[in-house]
Amino acid sequence: MDGVSSEPRKMQAFGALESNVRSYSRSFPAIFSRARGSIMLTEGGQKVIDFLSGAGALNYGHNNHQIKAVITEYLDSDAVVHGLDLATPAKLKFMETFSSIILRNRNLQYRFQFTGPTGANAVEAALKLSRKVTGRQNVISFMRGYHGMSLGAMAATGNRFYRAGSGVPLSGATFMPYDGYLGPAVDTADYLRKVLIDESSGIDCPAAILVETVQGEGGINAASKEWLQSIQAIAREVGAVFVVDDIQMGCGRTGDFFSFEFAALSPDIVVLSKSLSGYGLPLSMLLIREELDVWQPGEHTGTFRGNNLALVSATAAINIYWRCRIFSEEVHRMGELMRSRLEAIAAEHGNNFAVRGRGMALGFDCQKPEIAEATTRKAFDKGLIVERCGPVDQVVKFLPALTIDLETLNHGLDLFEESLAETLK
Ligand SMILES: *Cc1c(COP(=O)(O)O)cnc(C)c1O
Repeated sequence: MDGVSSEPRKMQAFGALESNVRSYSRSFPAIFSRARGSIMLTEGGQKVIDFLSGAGALNYGHNNHQIKAVITEYLDSDAVVHGLDLATPAKLKFMETFSSIILRNRNLQYRFQFTGPTGANAVEAALKLSRKVTGRQNVISFMRGYHGMSLGAMAATGNRFYRAGSGVPLSGATFMPYDGYLGPAVDTADYLRKVLIDESSGIDCPAAILVETVQGEGGINAASKEWLQSIQAIAREVGAVFVVDDIQMGCGRTGDFFSFEFAALSPDIVVLSKSLSGYGLPLSMLLIREELDVWQPGEHTGTFRGNNLALVSATAAINIYWRCRIFSEEVHRMGELMRSRLEAIAAEHGNNFAVRGRGMALGFDCQKPEIAEATTRKAFDKGLIVERCGPVDQVVKFLPALTIDLETLNHGLDLFEESLAETLK
């Protein structure tokens, strides 16, 4: 038995029963039974620090006790849990709370559309609505972007391995270079403007421009304020719906509730999921500018839209963390601490590594996938879950819970530092 890994015999039972498609259980081969905050417990009773946070679905930590108390009370009262999209007090309270605490303070006004529970469901709805509004088919998305596994979202996703799994031609999206894709000297927004304005560029007029402000799966590539503002301006110029996919970078991950606040954007549609429920419960939604809400009643439907338990936990998360600026300031501060430690670690090993990201979404680019892989495997043996991302999984991705305490954060970073040093030895 290696480090915190479970006995191979036990892991093999999963291999016999669960599809080959399983993935995280291969990178982190242990059986996890309990969790709280930033710590997961294996069945064998070993503690593991979690820097993956459900791929960004657990911004407030595992089993957040303040949120859990609200959910437990809701369950105890026999209030409606599943109600399709029926009107319930839980849904009204969520929309009112979100409007007053999140939207109004940021001078934003949107309608809520609850979609099926996954991020991909919400991306599909955003693209479908953009196409309906504009009568156009093409969507501009960006190289290395990630938007989900369903066919429409996948068509806008760059990764070849995932695309190849589709089994049918993926259509309806044109990929453009993201900020920095062609090096610091090339402004890729200029290129985008040029090809969209040119009547003979071969790029069809887009229904939507779909963008992440920081590409999560694509390698923690952070777009600049100026670039994002240009992309929004281009969308307006060419009559495309400007959609920000804030599924992974929203809900505080970059320090502000929405990842686009630092650039003062006002997207036409915002897509939220992952940490929206605050508790790891599935919940996805679109924020839609009122003029774009051209759906016919029931035109886009789904059984699990706006699950009430998830709406209750989402409301609790907003009430607990977003009523004042303190939490946001703390996330910015912890993000800076993380960044300076990662930069120091990079500097220890010459100039072979790069640190990127925003807030508490940081990437440590090892350039070589073998280094990233060996380091994250060693880190797991020492008791740290940290994942990789980027086109060839060469970037170590740091997504600790936003609520992590400094001691646990530093301990996790120590384990990473040791693992990298051992890998490079
Ligand atoms: C995770 C993710 C999605 C897909 O969400 P699922 O719930 O896995 O379908 C879409 N966009 C971004 C940016 C994501 O990080």
